[in-house]
Amino acid sequence: MKNQHLETICVQGGYTPKNGEPRQIPIIQSTTFKYSTSEDMGKLFDLEESGYFYSRLQNPTCDAVAEKICALEGGSAATLTSSGQAANFFALFNICSNGDHIVASSSIYGGTFNLISVTMAKMGVSVSFVSPNCSDEELENAFQSNTKAVFGETIANPALTVFDIERFANAAHKHGVPLIVDNTFATPINCRPFEWGADIVTHSTTKYMDGHGTTVGGAIIDGGKFDWLAHAEKFPGLCTPDDSYHGITYAEKFGKEGAFITKCTAQLMRDFGSTQSPQNAFYLNLGLESLHVRMQRHCENGQAVAEFLESHPKITKVNYCGLSSDPYHSLAEKYLPNGSCGVVSFELKGGRKSAEIFMKHLKLAAIETHVADARTCCLNPASSTHRQMTDEQLEQAGIPAGLIRMSCGLENKDDLIADISQALDQVIENAN
Ligand SMILES: *Cc1c(COP(=O)(O)O)cnc(C)c1O
Repeated sequence: MKNQHLETICVQGGYTPKNGEPRQIPIIQSTTFKYSTSEDMGKLFDLEESGYFYSRLQNPTCDAVAEKICALEGGSAATLTSSGQAANFFALFNICSNGDHIVASSSIYGGTFNLISVTMAKMGVSVSFVSPNCSDEELENAFQSNTKAVFGETIANPALTVFDIERFANAAHKHGVPLIVDNTFATPINCRPFEWGADIVTHSTTKYMDGHGTTVGGAIIDGGKFDWLAHAEKFPGLCTPDDSYHGITYAEKFGKEGAFITKCTAQLMRDFGSTQSPQNAFYLNLGLESLHVRMQRHCENGQAVAEFLESHPKITKVNYCGLSSDPYHSLAEKYLPNGSCGVVSFELKGGRKSAEIFMKHLKLAAIETHVADARTCCLNPASSTHRQMTDEQLEQAGIPAGLIRMSCGLENKDDLIADISQALDQVIENAN
């Protein structure tokens, strides 16, 4: 059945049991797979036939879950990875090597910022960061002759900026390179970047896709539209023979739809082994079955909390693109018409001291280094993840000392607001 709705794909996509087979996806907890002849197995090693031989490269449980995510994004092929960090690294490393360059939005997850600016720099890959709101001229000037990819996040963690996917896709394509979009916070329920011109989508499935705080994981999805061979000189890894597979050329043998993910699994997962375990893929799939139901509630709660905070006298600033006062509201209307996510960030009068008092008095919202969980959680970057920075350094990094990131879970919104309200009352008393 073609053209199913996202809700149906969430519940039933990826795995279709035949007569008498398990209704729930089986966990194929096996490192290896049996063959009758060496010849049969040899064909798999030559990529002449598709099939399973070792779970470091591919596993049927992981593939079924990847197929569901692929269908949700409207892509042509996908693979699961051991984490969101691995997904972003391999999406980039699949086409970038020593001497290459990336154009990236400066408003991205700290882990990805570090990956690109420090670790990939050690591998000889350089980067130019541009503000997601940069001028056309600044964007144009960021490209170099060795640029191989453009990177951004649909909704940035933790800055909550909204990425103008169409604009960055056009710029990337003008320079003959793909746009890679990390769609973790929006999920395909709220935004499908391929529809706006993105070429590769990545996820930290650890967040909303799992949604229950059980499993670290990632995914890479190919939109299947980027014409690697039309820019063959930029992408030798895809467009020239791979000696480790008897000289096959991925872009020729697997076409636009299959080349990127086949190279990523057959070559990079073989060599780096950052695959997801079938057990973790099973947990991820349980999360995906209710993703469409949960996202709606996360967004309702995020909106309600953001509106409450905006009207509260002790709050100086709220970042949430669902608020009409938010600078990203018009981009959100374009890219996220059904809602954005459940993460809200805000600042309190009295900065870091007030933030600490406020958070100490929260009863439902737990202090955690996590977001996008069924349970509401929050973090003050200045006193946790960014603790080593001075208040001045924090200000420069765009993370004011009093900033709190709250990830609204699936609880009743009135209970969340009551919890926030009573904790804010404590701030007033203590600050006086
Ligand atoms: C958490 C996160 C990552 C990293 O994912 P892990 O699964 O923790 O490795 C990457 N991108 C975004 C937007 C994230 O929120």
